[in-house]
Amino acid sequence: MARHTITLIPGDGIGYEVSEAARRVIDATGVDIEWEVQNAGLDVVEEFGQPMPDHVLDSIRKNKVAIKGPLTTPVGKGIRSVNVALRRELDLFALVRPCKWYPGVRSRYQDVDLVIVRENTEDLYAGIEFAEGEKDTLDLIENIERLGGRRIRDDSGISIKPISVTATQRVFRFAFKWAIDNGRRKVTAVHKANIMKFTDGLWLRVAEEVATEFPQMEFEERIVDNMAMQLVQKPELYDVMVMPNLYGDILSDLCAGLVGGLGLAPGANTGDEIAVFEATHGSAPKYAGKNVANPMAMMLSGVLMLRHIGEKEAGDRLEAAIAAIVADGSNVTYDMKSSRDDPTAVSTSQVADAIIAELERAAVPS
Ligand code: NAD
Repeated sequence: MARHTITLIPGDGIGYEVSEAARRVIDATGVDIEWEVQNAGLDVVEEFGQPMPDHVLDSIRKNKVAIKGPLTTPVGKGIRSVNVALRRELDLFALVRPCKWYPGVRSRYQDVDLVIVRENTEDLYAGIEFAEGEKDTLDLIENIERLGGRRIRDDSGISIKPISVTATQRVFRFAFKWAIDNGRRKVTAVHKANIMKFTDGLWLRVAEEVATEFPQMEFEERIVDNMAMQLVQKPELYDVMVMPNLYGDILSDLCAGLVGGLGLAPGANTGDEIAVFEATHGSAPKYAGKNVANPMAMMLSGVLMLRHIGEKEAGDRLEAAIAAIVADGSNVTYDMKSSRDDPTAVSTSQVADAIIAELERAAVPS
């Protein structure tokens, strides 16, 4: 059996605990993985001068596959998100986020099986921002007025929203291919083209063009606000939804909510050559170090990773073991219980123990 070398970035906050739990269950599948553990985030700034040191990026570039825990971005302190920078630096242009309901999960909905494909490099996440009151911002405001735009108030901050033909084409081509390879039935392009003619309008036009390259796949479009309502009212009508970065961020959490919460929502940041797997949730600082966070989103990201590296059977076994623990309902964390302070909730590491035992049980011929 081939040995895989994979970069593991534990992350910070609850990252340490959920990563360790995920690593243990992935190892328990028997797939031969050499983990290159690389720390990143706020905890390494003092040592390396930056949250995403070059040697971490080099490790991912070399191994082509990484799995990472969440990394904290302090709100509004001028520090840019390391997660966003990582995706851009490695050109991980598509973020695939499956949202699947597993029997036993407490949710208002059942049988939800949705996939968000989020464009990962552009839109308001491009990081092109001009701070209120600075000279460059005032110059920009003058220039926009001179070019025929409306006068923007002088006391404004400005975030730029670029959407290119290049990035839109490649994310839709990726999404259509992914949908076909994974036996999905429909692709929905999500947009706000009625308001933002030159960005979301372009997005929709390019989506329609790319759709003609894949006549075997059903295609439709939805305006993002309507999409949000439809997802809440009739999620069963949708399948693979492709959306620009910001809508993808927001609707990912909405879809996670449909299937039991952030503790169960995995993801895969994918580029032409490199893939970095991570849960949708963040570092949940208030639970950090308490060994209570749900590791299943990170483990399900591991399932996606195993399939990506060609270990489909192991990925299927791990997903089945997670599903069995969810269905049984006794070895799950607080977020999956009927009340948040349910004393029968187990710890992060106990969930891993239960899944490892389930993998071992399933391996014994009956
Ligand atoms: P969050 O996802 O960290 O947490 C929101 C709430 O969801 C938590 O308070 C908790 O109640 C619940 N939750 C999240 N994950 C859980 C889990 N595994 N088990 C049980 N409950 C869970 O979102 P936030 O509070 O908005 O962000 C905290 C930090 O994480 C911020 O700095 C943010 O920038 C960062 N973040 C990082 C990533 C990433 O690394 N990709 C993604 C999102 C947010």
